Amino acid sequence: MRLPFEIIEIGAVKLNSSREIVDEFHGIVKPQVYHWIHSHTREIIHMDYRSLANGMPFPDLVYRFFQWCGGDYRFCSWGNQDLLELQRNLKYYDMEEMLPGPIEYYDIQKLFNLQYEDDSSRKSLEYAVDFLKIKKNETFHRALADARYAAKIFGKIEEECIHRNFSIDVYQNPKCKNEEIHIYYEDYEKYISREFQSKEAATGDREVSSTRCPLCHKPAKKKIRWFSVNSRNYFSVSTCPEHGYLKGKVRMKKTDEGKFYAVKTVSLTDANDAKKIREKKELLCAKRRLHKKST
Ligand SMILES: [Zn+2]
Repeated sequence: MRLPFEIIEIGAVKLNSSREIVDEFHGIVKPQVYHWIHSHTREIIHMDYRSLANGMPFPDLVYRFFQWCGGDYRFCSWGNQDLLELQRNLKYYDMEEMLPGPIEYYDIQKLFNLQYEDDSSRKSLEYAVDFLKIKKNETFHRALADARYAAKIFGKIEEECIHRNFSIDVYQNPKCKNEEIHIYYEDYEKYISREFQSKEAATGDREVSSTRCPLCHKPAKKKIRWFSVNSRNYFSVSTCPEHGYLKGKVRMKKTDEGKFYAVKTVSLTDANDAKKIREKKELLCAKRRLHKKST
């Protein structure tokens, strides 16, 4: 197995139920896979290979880390990358059982957007720190400093917003039907399918292609059938007689082993958005016809 990103530092803070910092963890990994750090990375993380040589092998450090976490914890992280890379590194060392998935966690970057921003584009940690006028007394991009900053941002998110919008990491994706996941958020439903041998098998599955209203859970009537905008994303529009227009979105994900699973969201929308989706579909169809003619 390949390890595209070797973790070289773990920094974390522990929060109590009032989201106050009560403990800290920090450790450096002695790299086993890559014995160098790209100069660009060195610039970003402010570390060089010499300081890593004093580190601990990843399995030892991560073991300590989970002991520090204790039995009852939930991860909070800035963005969705850290948990993914942690699991990849665990898998590389055959230690996946230390962190069984799928994992429910809080994505502070997403929560920051939901509470303070109008769009969904992901912001940098420093952007959020500036926005919230949090004192900048530490260098960014070192694991522990970033964890402290993220915790301070997390402390400013409203409790209700946090509880309504937990995230789920599915790197350890559902393998069979009874492991499939349905989550009902306030105005949308998220579904994560089991894995399939091919993309076609996934899109052909009844559950993957169905659209139910996220509010009343009744089957909705398709107005615009599923269409692909590229090789990974599909859209549809349906209507619930009681709750109106529903937008369906499927993102096809590929596992490290080359299998496929679908992440589907069905959300409430309006006639205007439905019209935009129809126009998008028509434009795509026209483009494809044109492409066919010219080849
Ligand atoms: Zn409904």
